[in-house]
Amino acid sequence: MSERFAAQLDPGSPIAVAGGGGFIGGHLVRRLRELGFTDVRAVDVKPLDQWHQRHDGVECVVADLQGIDACRDAVDGARVVFNLAADMGGMGFIENHKAECMLSVLISTHMLMAARDAGVERFFYASSACVYNGERQTSADVVPLKESDAYPAMPEDGYGWEKLFSERMCGHFAEEFDISTRIARYHNVYGPLGTWDGGREKAPAAVCRKVAAAVMSGRHEIEIWGDGEQTRSFMFVDDCVEGTPRLMASDFAEPINIGSDELVTINQLVDIVEDIAGVTLRRTYDLDAPKGVRGRNSDNTLIQDALGWAPSITLMDGLERTYRWIYDQIASGRRDPSALTVAA
Ligand code: NAD
Repeated sequence: MSERFAAQLDPGSPIAVAGGGGFIGGHLVRRLRELGFTDVRAVDVKPLDQWHQRHDGVECVVADLQGIDACRDAVDGARVVFNLAADMGGMGFIENHKAECMLSVLISTHMLMAARDAGVERFFYASSACVYNGERQTSADVVPLKESDAYPAMPEDGYGWEKLFSERMCGHFAEEFDISTRIARYHNVYGPLGTWDGGREKAPAAVCRKVAAAVMSGRHEIEIWGDGEQTRSFMFVDDCVEGTPRLMASDFAEPINIGSDELVTINQLVDIVEDIAGVTLRRTYDLDAPKGVRGRNSDNTLIQDALGWAPSITLMDGLERTYRWIYDQIASGRRDPSALTVAA
C-alpha cells in the first residue's frame, strides 16, 4: 500500500517534487497530500499559470532545475525527493527534439548531486520504457519487456539514452554515496489534467481530442499516425501515483517497470474511444508520421514480486475519465475544435 510510504515517514516530513507543475508531478503531489503529507514543495520551470495542478498548502516554486543552485534550493531541507522534471513529450516531440531531451541530463545530474550534498534520505527517479532495446520491439506481437531487456543497450535515441544514463547514475550514487535511490520505468501514462494538444501530447490524449473534435464538428473522420497496428500498453495516472510511493516505501532499488500490461493496437485504442463517445469515424492513416517502436508492453512479474502490486485500472475505465475531461476542455472553449488540426 502507498500508505506504507506514509507510515515510514511522519506526516511533517519535508518532501520535494521536481517537475511538480507537470502532468504526473501534479497528480503525485495530490496523492502525497491525500497520504497526509503537510510539507510538500513542488518545483517546475513553467510559470505558475501553466502548471497542470496546484494544491493548497503546497509550496510552489518556479525554477530551472538544469542549474545546480536551483536544485540545491529545491531540495533544501527535504528528506525525500521525487525527480520527475524532464523535457519530454509524445513521439511527435521526442523524435524531433533529441538534443533537448538529452539536456535533461543536467536536471538528473544536478538534482542527484544536490540531494546527496543535502543529506536527502531517499531519491526517486522517473525513468521510462523508452530505455528498452529497440531490437526487442520490432514486432506488434510483442513479448512483454522485462527489466533485463534494457541490455544490451539500444534505447530510444535521445530521450531513452538520457533516461538510461540517469538510471545508471542513480544506481552508482546509491553504491558510492549515502543516498538511497528508487527508479521507476513508467510506461505511457495518461489521464485527466494531462497534455492533450500542442505537440507534446501522447496517443491516448491525442485520440481522445480527435474523437471529441469530430463529435463536436460533425466531421466524422480521424487521422491516425502509422497503420494503427502498432501495439502499446497505457497506464492510467492514478495507478502511476499509487505505484510510485509504493516503490519508495519498498526495499527494491533496481529499475522496475510501472506500467499496464493491457496490450492494444492503436486501432483498438481508437475503437474504445469511439465506443465511449458513441461514434464511428472514417479512419485515414499517415504512414510518414512519427510512430516509435512497433510493439511494446510491460512485463509485470517483477513489480508483482517486489511490491505485491501492479497497475490494474482498465483502459476502458481510464479512457472514459480522460475522454470526458478532454471533451470538457474543448467544450468549455479552451480550444476551438475546428483549429484542432495537429496530428498525433
Ligand atoms: P510533463 O512534461 O508534464 O512533466 C515534466 C515537467 O518537468 C514539466 O512540467 C516541465 O515543465 C518540467 N521541467 C522541464 N524542464 C525543467 C527544468 N529545466 N527545470 C524544472 N522543471 C522542468 O511530463 P510527465 O508526463 O508528467 O512526466 C513526468 C516524468 O515521467 C518525466 O521525467 C518523464 O520523462 C517521465 N515519464 C513519463 C511518461 C508518460 O507517459 N507521461 C512515461 C515515461 C516516463
